[in-house]
Amino acid sequence: MSRPIVATIHSAALRQNLAIARQAAPDSRIWSVVKANGYGHGIARIWQHLSATDGFALLNLEEAILLREQGWKKPILLLEGFFHSDELALLDRYRLTTSLHSNWQIKALAQARLSAPLDIYVKVNSGMNRLGFLPEQIPNVWQKLRALENVGEMTLMSHFAEAESAEGIVEPMKQIERAAEGLECPRSLSNSAATLWHPEAHFDWVRPGIVLYGASPSGRWQDIAGTGLKPAMTLTSDIIAVQTLKAGAGLGYGYRYHAPDEQRIGIVACGYADGYPRHAPTGTPVMVDGVRTRTLGTVSMDMLAVDLTPCPQAGIGSKVELWGEQIKIDEVAGSAGTVGYELMCALAPRVPVEVR
Ligand code: PLP
Repeated sequence: MSRPIVATIHSAALRQNLAIARQAAPDSRIWSVVKANGYGHGIARIWQHLSATDGFALLNLEEAILLREQGWKKPILLLEGFFHSDELALLDRYRLTTSLHSNWQIKALAQARLSAPLDIYVKVNSGMNRLGFLPEQIPNVWQKLRALENVGEMTLMSHFAEAESAEGIVEPMKQIERAAEGLECPRSLSNSAATLWHPEAHFDWVRPGIVLYGASPSGRWQDIAGTGLKPAMTLTSDIIAVQTLKAGAGLGYGYRYHAPDEQRIGIVACGYADGYPRHAPTGTPVMVDGVRTRTLGTVSMDMLAVDLTPCPQAGIGSKVELWGEQIKIDEVAGSAGTVGYELMCALAPRVPVEVR
């Protein structure tokens, strides 16, 4: 018998979440964002379940090539473009759409020998100050690009720093309007939050990521309750040992938990080396044999402890859901002071994955 931890990827949830994104933005095409190895779900495992999308958006050339080699013929967008001019030959060969955010990329594109023009996403810095040209630079950038024979269709793209609230996109939308003045071109602005909550930002192509995996862009799962979005990943394991702590006994590294009274606890085969957050404090929710309980003490590399008081019937071999349908990844992330995005992406390679 191998170690009992397993991550289950739910193909039906992926399909449903994509359908919900489509309902939310019915007049837009969808770039399904599968960067970071499909937010930790495994791009090779999941892309076919998202194949009703119009395109895949990602970061790595390797991931783009993998999709092409596995048979994806429709568009692929490199969200940060290319990182070195050498890569342009592969962009050409695999027919990848690239975003452009810096002048050196324009120069490299101008000098490249391509078999056919590439479609381009011009990135506008609408206030996040991470990547992109300022709105006042766009007319010049646009003109330069338009003149290049290596450039095919041009789309204006931006990314919101804070799209969870309506106020968060007001100023960025003004900046984007400034950038778009006088341009007749498609636009792509919306991440998951804007796809769900800001129809005025939908335009031609939306770019949802986190909602495809069934977690909330705001970090609060209550914000997506009732949408039909379903967690695409369940992380489960078993209880591999049971201890009865005496009143006052300490537990785990640093004795960060002390039993107030005699207490039955379970040791679960899941630790931070599996991707469970080490910062999850005592009280982080967890499900044991279908009963909601909590973690206790410090999360170790390979194990964590759970309170068996609410589930006295539980014992060795009891099933534990670390996150999934019952325990939302957003709850665990919130308790550990992080976001569902980070937990998904941090799922460790040592965790076996099954797709259902
Ligand atoms: N577009 C860009 C440029 C991104 O960097 C990301 C993710 O960070 C997304 C879209 C998708 O964002 P989300 O997962 O919040 O939907």
